[in-house]
Amino acid sequence: MNAPTHIVGGYVFTGTLCSFTNVNVFENPEYIVACAVLSILPDIDTTKSLIGKICYPVSWVLHRKFGHRTITHSFLYLIFIWALFYAFFRLNLIPDTNLVKIAVFATIGHFVFDMITVSAIPLLYPFYKNRCVLPANPHFRFKSGDFKSEMIVVGICGLLCFTMQPLFANGFWTTYNRQFATIRHVDRENKNTEYYVVCDYSYILNAETSTGEAIVIESSQNELTLFDRKKVFTLNSDNPQLKINYTRPRISTIEKRFEDLRFFNIPYDSLQTMLSGKLTSGLIQSNVNVRYIEDAITHYTNFIKFDNRFDFKVYADVDTNRVTIRRNIARLEATINQSYQQHKNTLQKWTDYQNNIRNIEDSLKFPNLTNYERNKLQQELIRLRNRNPEQPTHTPPTVQIAELQQLRQSLTENNLLFSGHLTVYTFGYTHVIADSLRNPPYPPLDGQHTNYPPSEGQHTNYPPSEGAGGGPSPTSPISPASPTYPTNKPCYTGSSLLASLTINH
Ligand SMILES: [Zn+2]
Repeated sequence: MNAPTHIVGGYVFTGTLCSFTNVNVFENPEYIVACAVLSILPDIDTTKSLIGKICYPVSWVLHRKFGHRTITHSFLYLIFIWALFYAFFRLNLIPDTNLVKIAVFATIGHFVFDMITVSAIPLLYPFYKNRCVLPANPHFRFKSGDFKSEMIVVGICGLLCFTMQPLFANGFWTTYNRQFATIRHVDRENKNTEYYVVCDYSYILNAETSTGEAIVIESSQNELTLFDRKKVFTLNSDNPQLKINYTRPRISTIEKRFEDLRFFNIPYDSLQTMLSGKLTSGLIQSNVNVRYIEDAITHYTNFIKFDNRFDFKVYADVDTNRVTIRRNIARLEATINQSYQQHKNTLQKWTDYQNNIRNIEDSLKFPNLTNYERNKLQQELIRLRNRNPEQPTHTPPTVQIAELQQLRQSLTENNLLFSGHLTVYTFGYTHVIADSLRNPPYPPLDGQHTNYPPSEGQHTNYPPSEGAGGGPSPTSPISPASPTYPTNKPCYTGSSLLASLTINH
């Protein structure tokens, strides 16, 4: 067999075997070159082959010493290739074992293709020189160097190279699971990978068909929790109202990773920052009651446990205790004000009275008064002086004032504070889907993916508008004296939490 046949055939053979171990021969240039070179390398034992011509002195020596199709077409050579590449891996010359697999499979591929030729190969060389063949009958085997049959093989394998790309790319088991397209297969795929599984789904609920692609958040044999376009939903195969058309898994390029946030006495704004625009699960405790909505039911509580919620909202507007305190403060303020106002009024009356007396006294000093007028004024003066009231004094409502101060104090102490922990999915939804759409990790398997890239309007709200993407809002107050929390687990208090969020986004 000549070099083109070995190379093209090598891609199909190696690609297929590698797909079982989730290695894609076409993933990067190194793999492609390695596969091609290793597929023709055994023919280094003849100066007539392509690789023999390239490595002329070596091939001349090998040919002189062993002859064509001998030592380099045996298990001994296969073991040598494996040991060589494994050594490369152990010496960190290659990053992982993928190249070891490719080298071994490409070599086996070469052997297989040589075995289906008339002259065959001595696999047990140098111990047994018997030739190993694939169909025993030589009439069914290829004649090496026969241009016509080689072209047929190149043609068929070349075609396979293209049509089998989805298999190479997705790996055998993913392709297998995609074909079945059931929840069980998505679950199996999800359990076997460290990367997020993206699932193409289609289901009918209430006579309405929904299709799309979503990230698999959780999976079990009969249920998938999916995250699509900012909402979390579940597909349960046991639900009689739900007809699932298909759920096809595809492995994304984003590693499954969670961020665990522990926080202690953080203010409301910081909590909002942690939750907004993210998919989270967790437990939140607050010093006063807050409100949240789940399944369209409003809950009032100071202890919230929630699972897989996107952009979870906690509302701090319903604390009845605080409302009562505020009402009492208003009532006391009114009473105290009233007391002062009353005093002010009586004081004003008294001042008016004194002014009146002073006016009369002044009038009496006037020389041109008639006796009648003078008499009248003097009588009036006597009457007023007799009635002369004491200057009013005011006793401030000390009890109420003390009470008011106490209430005001309790209100500041009662400032909303939250403690608890959160598990944050570290992908931004934008991230996984947008990236995989722009740059699909694997080519679509069938014609159903015609919406690559997404049609206009569908994704117009990505990236999410400001604020939703996390990051501390510029006005968020940072509690000035956050208590230190005696724990060796990461503990986030106000400022450090905000700092960590900034780093992660
Ligand atoms: Zn050969």
